[in-house]
Amino acid sequence: MKDSKSTTKQSRRTLLKNAVAATFGAAATTTASAQTNSKAHSEEIVAPRKPGQGVTPRAKEIVKITKIETFLVKPRWLFLKMHTNAGVVGLGEPITEGRALTCQAAIKEIEPYLLGKDPRNVAHHWQAIYRHAFYRGGPILTSALSGIDQALWDIKGKLLGVPVYELLGGPTRDRVRVYAHARTPEDIKTRKAEGFTAFKCGPAKLNDRPAHFVENRQYIDYCVERFAALKQIVGKDGDLGIDFHGAIPHGTAKQLIKALEPYDPFFYEEVVNCQEVDVMADLAKSTHIPLATGERIFTKWGFREILEKKASIILQPDLCHAGGITEVKIIAGMAEAFYASIAPHNPLGPISLAAGLQIAASIPNFLCQEQVSLGEGYIKNPFKVKNGYVELPTAPGLGIELDEELMKKNDMYGHDWRNQETYDPDDGSVVDW
Ligand SMILES: [Mg+2]
Repeated sequence: MKDSKSTTKQSRRTLLKNAVAATFGAAATTTASAQTNSKAHSEEIVAPRKPGQGVTPRAKEIVKITKIETFLVKPRWLFLKMHTNAGVVGLGEPITEGRALTCQAAIKEIEPYLLGKDPRNVAHHWQAIYRHAFYRGGPILTSALSGIDQALWDIKGKLLGVPVYELLGGPTRDRVRVYAHARTPEDIKTRKAEGFTAFKCGPAKLNDRPAHFVENRQYIDYCVERFAALKQIVGKDGDLGIDFHGAIPHGTAKQLIKALEPYDPFFYEEVVNCQEVDVMADLAKSTHIPLATGERIFTKWGFREILEKKASIILQPDLCHAGGITEVKIIAGMAEAFYASIAPHNPLGPISLAAGLQIAASIPNFLCQEQVSLGEGYIKNPFKVKNGYVELPTAPGLGIELDEELMKKNDMYGHDWRNQETYDPDDGSVVDW
């Protein structure tokens, strides 16, 4: 019995060593060889899981997080690099726009938890970072968690040699539709020439002032005429959404969305503030145009009420705010149960876009992915748009590689981006933008 048990231990060690060597490449193999020679290692591998340790019998000690770096990137981003002893580096964007330094500090505070941990236990780390904070969620902490989650998935995919969507049950589609921002007819023409077929604009503001609680006909007509002019260039075979940034008071909101209806907006985004769920639900009942919201909503708990009250059927969780790939996949499942779709919000960088593409390729209810950069000047092999779509990335993990030499050459490191201050030009009061 003793010999048989010993053989089993040896056999499992050999199998594990071979599996690791095949999976993780030379860097991990070297580490594995060194560690499989130690008594402590063999005991840990064959030992049953110890309560509270979160250790699974799969060579947990072989891959460890060794260092986390964050750096500000123009125009207003924050990139994260998570290093491991296996030589694999994960990328993330842990950023709330306008609070890059605050997010950087949040990562620094979370770092001690992650150092020495196995990056492959993605969902476990998500739970620990979110729940052990005691004061849960909010834009800063969920943005920090989101960037970490992206990097963990990137590492896991790279270690296993597959895109993240393969680990999430995908691919569910061959390519991913993306949309571009456009403010003017010239913008639409330029983006169309680049290959886009879906666009988003903001409401035109008469005399550059925000909407008042109750608006006059001149204000409404101005907004509608400008939208109609853009839509005409987009054409009937294209799509044009409109984002109100939650800045339209209730009194004007119904009037405005009814007036825009004849021009078939793709969706109405954040007509009112996302915290006004009952108002959104009321608006949703008053129009056949889908309402969209989600860029300022965090985690599955944040989206629950939106779905339950049918306040929106296009959810726009941000991969850098809502809780990362782990959480947006769950939110997409919740949305599916309510026959709602997912259009990830993304005014950020190429890591955010790459994370969104992984989600698009792993869920059934995807609508369209927002982007403001295809990665030119930031990553090797930037994404390309053709007939409104980008091809699924096929490289392991998130499928992108930073071009740090180019970023350095173009002076892309560091920024001091701040949220704009906006006041009513008529009376100087604070307004939303
Ligand atoms: Mg928006």
